[in-house]
Amino acid sequence: MRIATKFGGSSLADAAHFNKVKAIIEADKDRLFVVVSAPGRNEQNDEKITDLLLTCYDRRQKNLDYTAPFERIKKRFLDIERELGLNVGMDNELNAISNAIHGGASMDYTASRGEYLTALLLSSYLNFGFLDPSELIAFHDDGTYDDETTQRWCNKLEGQSRLVIPGFYGRKRDGSIKTFSRGGSDITGAIIAREVHADVYENWTDVDGFMMADPRIVPNPKIISVVTYSELRELSYMGASVLHEDSIFPVRKARIPIHIKNTNNPAIDGTKIVPDGSLRNFRRDSVLTGISGRTGFTIITVTKDNMHKEIGFGYRLLRVLSHNNISFENCPSGIDTMSLVIDDKFLGGKLDNVISEIRRDCEPNTIEVTSRIALIATVGRGMIRSKGVSAKLFRALSDADVNVRIIDQGSSEMNIIVGVEEQDFVDAVKAIYNAFS
Ligand code: ASP
Repeated sequence: MRIATKFGGSSLADAAHFNKVKAIIEADKDRLFVVVSAPGRNEQNDEKITDLLLTCYDRRQKNLDYTAPFERIKKRFLDIERELGLNVGMDNELNAISNAIHGGASMDYTASRGEYLTALLLSSYLNFGFLDPSELIAFHDDGTYDDETTQRWCNKLEGQSRLVIPGFYGRKRDGSIKTFSRGGSDITGAIIAREVHADVYENWTDVDGFMMADPRIVPNPKIISVVTYSELRELSYMGASVLHEDSIFPVRKARIPIHIKNTNNPAIDGTKIVPDGSLRNFRRDSVLTGISGRTGFTIITVTKDNMHKEIGFGYRLLRVLSHNNISFENCPSGIDTMSLVIDDKFLGGKLDNVISEIRRDCEPNTIEVTSRIALIATVGRGMIRSKGVSAKLFRALSDADVNVRIIDQGSSEMNIIVGVEEQDFVDAVKAIYNAFS
């Protein structure tokens, strides 16, 4: 058994958390690879190291003094080194970074130093080796991730184990440091898990797992014990965010399960994300896996007599969107109507233009725009085989006096999406959760 682990910033925020991480690693000798984020927020610290580093970079660019934020960074790392009784030359490392920032180091280099220093400390504390991801993770010259070169560079992992690797960054071919987007250590962890042929990728964080609904809406929602990769996609595109979205792809393709665990509560089972079709081993208590949703959508409904007979109508309508560089979320249709559900962040400032192009290209009878819509996805692979799921869902919404504006059941049959007015969003999520839990 080989386990690749990744510890998030809150799991490494201070010396006490380093202790918890050490206990977790030592509790299972199969935990052979450790990817780390930079120290984040916790009860004692309200700033993320990466944010402080970016503040230093920003101030340097504006020729402003960055001593105060750098001193805060320095204190956190020196405290960890001292409190754990380590001697990794942290003072020198920090001075070198400060000099580099002063000398005009890039934003990516500056941002990446939190992960670098954290891995230095943790590798010494665990007595593991340290491997810099600039030797493993490759980026193209245009800054996009280069999987092919990464796979080649990762050959050097062969035969190695008991390693700590900083997350979040790699390098371009010209040698410069490049980071993933924020939260990107999850991606590094997934790539390393794939490259070392791990049996499981453990992602350690500060929550007990994925919740079945947003806890700001449903008090104390249950934790999802098992979710398939496909279900997670359906849940995450609507805003469930424990994992960086891009971290799913490397391990999903390699059929490696991800296990979300809580560093502060390791005895709790957490959430297992498993490849589709590997569920035989897991018990299920409910058809519902989870509910996710968010506000901020607009529906454009276009009607035209005999639309269903007009060849190319859908093509012309969607061409307007692509021409305006807008992607759509859903596209429910009826015999003579088609609706486009669009995230407001794509629509911003373009609505008038879109409407006039639809008028010109599609010659509809009417166009109706409804804004302030919320979408709610009710997801559960068990829904395929259970009767009465939608009846239960819509009864719950009607009992809660919620008016449903659109309905869409993906052909995978593991997801029913409803659109409601934003003012009904909270009531709708509560009603659905209560009906199924
Ligand atoms: N430290 C980086 C961030 O705060 C990357 C990560 O934590 O994954 O976004």
